[in-house]
Amino acid sequence: MTARLLERLAGSGVRWTADPSIVDSRRTDRSGWQPAGRPLAVVFPESVPEVRRTLRVADELRVPVVPRGAGTGLAGGAGAGAGSLVLDLTGMNRILDISPDDGLAVVQPGVITADLDRAAARYGLRYAPDPASVAISTVGGNIATNAGGLRCAKYGVTADAVLGLDVVLADGRLLHTGRRTVKGVAGYDLTRLFVGSEGTLGVVVGATVRLLPLPDATATVAASFASVADAAAGAAAVLAARIRPAMAELLDGPTLRAIDPARTDGALLLVQTDGAGAAAEASTVEDVLARHGATVAVTTDPAEAERLLAVRRAALPALERLGRPLIEDIAVPRGRLAEATSAVQAIGERTGVPVYVVAHAADGNLHPLLVVDPAADTIPAPAWRAAEEIFQLALRLGGTMTGEHGVGVLKRAWLRRELGGANHDLQRDLKNLFDPHGILNPGKAI
Ligand SMILES: Cc1cc2nc3c(=O)[nH]c(=O)nc-3n(C[C@H](O)[C@H](O)[C@H](O)COP(=O)(O)OP(=O)(O)OC[C@H]3O[C@@H](n4cnc5c(N)ncnc54)[C@H](O)[C@@H]3O)c2cc1C
Repeated sequence: MTARLLERLAGSGVRWTADPSIVDSRRTDRSGWQPAGRPLAVVFPESVPEVRRTLRVADELRVPVVPRGAGTGLAGGAGAGAGSLVLDLTGMNRILDISPDDGLAVVQPGVITADLDRAAARYGLRYAPDPASVAISTVGGNIATNAGGLRCAKYGVTADAVLGLDVVLADGRLLHTGRRTVKGVAGYDLTRLFVGSEGTLGVVVGATVRLLPLPDATATVAASFASVADAAAGAAAVLAARIRPAMAELLDGPTLRAIDPARTDGALLLVQTDGAGAAAEASTVEDVLARHGATVAVTTDPAEAERLLAVRRAALPALERLGRPLIEDIAVPRGRLAEATSAVQAIGERTGVPVYVVAHAADGNLHPLLVVDPAADTIPAPAWRAAEEIFQLALRLGGTMTGEHGVGVLKRAWLRRELGGANHDLQRDLKNLFDPHGILNPGKAI
């Protein structure tokens, strides 16, 4: 099989390598999951026809294909094991069109998300989806995982920014979904189906995405609370005051002390408002949070705002200094955030696993970080127990085990429980319809 595949690739005109050091560098993502064995080769397509040719060969020879963006995923989705072919899309990284009149951009999948945002800014526009990995992840990977981010409290997740897609199916056929128009309801919404499908239904080779006007002004509120439950209640009160913040990030006390041991507050809530009414909205946020017992500071100075948001960005590096953080990603109905944060802390105490909480508070999306011994070969049993309890908690509160990172490999065992049997069966039928030979990212997401 290996010889036949390599022979066919060599005749296809597509750039590829079986060099072990390069192949090994494309085996894993940032989840820490280690697939067994080494992939056969990595293919570096530079055009849509090259992706089509590669998939035709793989489908014919029944070789599993793992589409790959920047490999920053946190669920094991881009992990590639023995016998598979990695399809590295980072070479397809051109912005093909930016149309201020239509409010959209057309891009190849390997464009780094922050590069698209920067290019849009030259027209007074922005690409709103901003996962914290915006500087290192690709638009194609964001689409395949339906990435969220900080600004999605106001501007939605990646799915809300995607108008249309070019997708190569498992057998090499090229499909166009969606359109360049704001509206359009002809046919089933296949664009939405591909978004978040984690490389299991097709390979995204092009995307038409919505651009929004850059806001004229922003204001940032930093509120220190005695406890994380108070901060979550404060976030709920801001939303109840009919404010739609551009972001609302929450960090619990243990996370704050991991960043700066001198801190004594129980939690920090960072709220940003934007647009013409930014300052007035920030003033309302300040009043609401002060009434909820917070010590509040407000700034409209971009440099000071950057300094405040740097605390949020420092969370993961700080926890990485303490051990190996396993990043969970539950989401609950936003009104139940306070209940969820307290319950997560209790799970940490019960299982003896250090749990740190960072949350996108306006979306009810919590990232409990379980910090385990980096020297351990496998994930220790108490950490599994804590993760299992956290998933159960999310489902009990009417939420989900993954708000934005995806199912990948790591959460696949829980998927049927969340979806229910009928829904899961139908999704498997869909997978079989799109990919009858099961070559696209098998063992992931579904
Ligand atoms: C520091 C850090 C912060 C992060 N913050 C966030 C955050 O705030 N919000 C969030 O949602 N995520 C976050 N993530 C997770 C990660 O960045 C996202 O999941 C991101 O969308 C992955 O993009 P990627 O290009 O790295 O894709 P990869 O990791 O390479 O792939 C992810 C999945 O998409 C598939 N895929 C990739 N490209 C394609 C394609 N062109 N066609 C079909 N399938 C494809 C892969 O097979 C895989 O299943 C963070 C990760 C890190 C390391």
